[in-house]
Amino acid sequence: MSSTASDKVWVFLEVRDGGLASVSLELLGKARSLAQEVGGGVAGVLLGADVSALAPVAFAAGADRVYLADDPRLAEYASLPYARVIGNLVAASTPEILLLGATPAGRDLAPRVASAVTAGLTADCTDLQIGDHVEAGGSREYKDLLYQIRPAFGGNIIATIVTPRHRPQMATVRPGVFPPPAQEVGRRGEVISVPVELRGEDLVVEVLSREREECLVDLAGARVVVAGGAGVGSPEAFALVREFAEVLGGVVGATRAAVDAGWIPREHQIGQTGVTVRPKLYIAAGVSGSVQHCAGMSDSARILAINTDPDAPIFSLAHYGIVGDLKEIIPKLIKAYRATGGDGGP
Ligand code: FAD
Repeated sequence: MSSTASDKVWVFLEVRDGGLASVSLELLGKARSLAQEVGGGVAGVLLGADVSALAPVAFAAGADRVYLADDPRLAEYASLPYARVIGNLVAASTPEILLLGATPAGRDLAPRVASAVTAGLTADCTDLQIGDHVEAGGSREYKDLLYQIRPAFGGNIIATIVTPRHRPQMATVRPGVFPPPAQEVGRRGEVISVPVELRGEDLVVEVLSREREECLVDLAGARVVVAGGAGVGSPEAFALVREFAEVLGGVVGATRAAVDAGWIPREHQIGQTGVTVRPKLYIAAGVSGSVQHCAGMSDSARILAINTDPDAPIFSLAHYGIVGDLKEIIPKLIKAYRATGGDGGP
């Protein structure tokens, strides 16, 4: 295997249901723009069994090269063999940046690889940028570092984290944070075969079977989200939020306060410790607009806030605002929407 020094930004390509996970495509799109800034190419790292057909999908999404480790022992994600193969590959090629999705597999894999190659790692970034950094005291200046941006200290600040002295600069990013890239069908790239050198201790865990539970809430892909917060006030009133979402053909979201109150299951939570959404229309009902909540919805195309408090922070983010009691306003909006025959929707 030859390493290609021009591949400065690498993305772990996660295989899911025989295809590439949406977050991997989103990261390839982001990697493309980061690579343009640092002046280099984008590489995908693809592990699995009989997965070579996925390389063109990665090229179409922005990869210039795919490092392919195709081996029956990699058919199912497993921490130790995956970390070994990627750790060896990264150690041999030393990319500037390595990005992984903050999925269960990515969250498991990233710290193992970071530890193997003694790199820094920032989890759950909400943005990535390229910039310079001057060390405290001005003794040394670093060019074109990865700014790993994420809420910190309980979401009270947005921190920009840099890891100037170690490579690669590693970050995980949750699904939905970056938009999916435009697919450039027919775009070509190079596939580089990676030797799969596993030790006995890498294979001590055997996956005997995998149980899958379907995710019934597709918040990340929703065009319309109607989210209820603590201001909804009761489980009975939350039925109004559900009805509004149903009428609009949308999906119900919630703040952590509403989830903690037991009005709605946790998979509906939006925000820093929930799902990230970017729908065409986001309706925030009885939501104050905490930093932690907004981290998961601020990229929505249009935001409508309904709140009794005219000074609620959500109004500074919203494109449209209604000051009033959601229990009075939502029924009126439902009635008005139905009166249009549903034609006035997003
Ligand atoms: P509140 O802040 O209590 O706001 C309720 C709002 O409803 C108020 O603005 C009020 O004016 C309005 N209201 C009251 N009655 C009515 C009415 N009848 N009609 C209309 N409006 C009304 N939160 C998240 O949402 N997602 C996260 O992922 C998340 N992660 C977190 C992670 C950490 C580490 C921490 C520390 C916190 C996190 N939180 C998260 C919690 C977050 O800080 C806030 O506590 C939470 O978002 C507040 O939810 P809320 O807006 O529903 O409630």
